[in-house]
Amino acid sequence: MVCFCFLVDQTRKIQRSKPVAGICSRCGGGASVADVKSCTRVCYVPFYWKSWRAIICTFCGAILRSY
Ligand SMILES: [Zn+2]
Repeated sequence: MVCFCFLVDQTRKIQRSKPVAGICSRCGGGASVADVKSCTRVCYVPFYWKSWRAIICTFCGAILRSY
């Protein structure tokens, strides 16, 4: 049996967002500018995170543009 010692995952959290002019190129939904915080975890222990601002789709969650 193979045991995976390292379990790496990444979570993405939208901290706050407000609607902005523009539509999603994938689904045509409304866009909003949001502060995104992503956290990389190893074995459920956070060891690296960063936050940035991005324009995302409020409907499908696609990142349309990141700063
Ligand atoms: Zn979309």
